[in-house]
Amino acid sequence: MNLHEYQGKEILNSFGVKIQRGIVADNHKKAVEAAKLLATETGTDWWVIKAQIHAGGRGKGGGVKLAKSLSEVESISKDIIGMMLKTPQTSAEGKKVNQVLIAEDVYYPGPSEPEEYYMSVLLNRATGKNMIMYSTEGGMDIETVAEETPHLIFTEEVDPGTGLLGFQARKIAFNLGLSGKAFKEMVRFVFALYKAYVQSDSSLFEINPVLKTSDDMVLAVDAKVTLDDNALFRHKDYQDLRDLREENPIEVEANAVGLNYVDLDGNVGCMVNGAGLAMSTMDLIKQSGGEPANFLDVGGTADAERVETGFRIILKDPKVKAILVNIFGGIVRCDRVAQGIVDAYKNMGDSIKVPIIVRLQGTNAVEAKQLMDNSGLDVISVVEFKEAANKVQEVLS
Ligand code: GDP
Ligand code: MN
Repeated sequence: MNLHEYQGKEILNSFGVKIQRGIVADNHKKAVEAAKLLATETGTDWWVIKAQIHAGGRGKGGGVKLAKSLSEVESISKDIIGMMLKTPQTSAEGKKVNQVLIAEDVYYPGPSEPEEYYMSVLLNRATGKNMIMYSTEGGMDIETVAEETPHLIFTEEVDPGTGLLGFQARKIAFNLGLSGKAFKEMVRFVFALYKAYVQSDSSLFEINPVLKTSDDMVLAVDAKVTLDDNALFRHKDYQDLRDLREENPIEVEANAVGLNYVDLDGNVGCMVNGAGLAMSTMDLIKQSGGEPANFLDVGGTADAERVETGFRIILKDPKVKAILVNIFGGIVRCDRVAQGIVDAYKNMGDSIKVPIIVRLQGTNAVEAKQLMDNSGLDVISVVEFKEAANKVQEVLS
């Protein structure tokens, strides 16, 4: 589950990570109130207005602006709230901005220059360790840094058993070129950030930029946080942070009825039982010259009702030109699944306008094929994986 910047910062703050403080607002009046409140709390008289959408690169797209007066807070908030914000990470039409974060300006002048760094904590699946990635090149696109100046990106692997050790945090602060007060601040920052990542059960914390202010404080100016869905049951208070407006509406609907559905870009819809079979079915579709339109695992109970729900969800995607049903009847008998498909098909009348290829394998596969073939429906039924691939190729060409 992805979070908004302001939510990620709240979590960081709760673990003692220093942040650029801010208040979220969903209209320009509240934005002005927020700015006034921040002024009394922090003494700031400049503010940054930051669009809250689940995508980075907002600065480049005009979603992050500096306001030097309350009237600028009002006019900038008015412009940003409700806009379709296009960034390198959104689709071409952009994302609607429902709220803005009014944040204190932390790039104020002082004894030294403000400096931006990059830092993220994530899991390195290859080594089974947590990994802190960091760079002196903060504030910009880290992918560009990785491409053009990869030697400026450092990684520090942390054994989850021992946790982050003192020398590692000091090495990070040293590699970032810090000394004195800023060095100590960075060490504390890294420890608190790592703790936040571990204890919130997140799969990613990306802070870009981490800012060293002109008076040598170190704080998080941005926060991209991905919580691990599988650990959400341990964090009841985080569950409310989900913003369904940011998520794919078909996925939201499918998840609500307990289907494991992921929307993809292709043209062949798939309905499969079991995640492993779903993955190999997607491979099969690709090898047959198609592209999977979705990942859909209907789970163990492929009865008529579930099959019908699956069809309805798949057909909401206008890109779908064919549907491949690939079900293995282990505990559930193939003839029962076949009956389910026939019932679902009849129930849906003429809302199915694309060819359906059904491959049922396992217990009573032969009976299932007979049932499908005798149903009089426009369903192509096959038994072998290879035949299914050929049929997909045929209907697409
Ligand atoms: P992103 O573009 O979506 O990654 O959003 P960020 O939160 O990283 O903000 C983008 C840029 O806005 C930062 O890299 C900063 O250069 C700038 N910015 C953020 N906060 C402040 C601030 O308090 N003062 C000033 N002057 N600039 C800021
Ligand atoms: Mn950023």
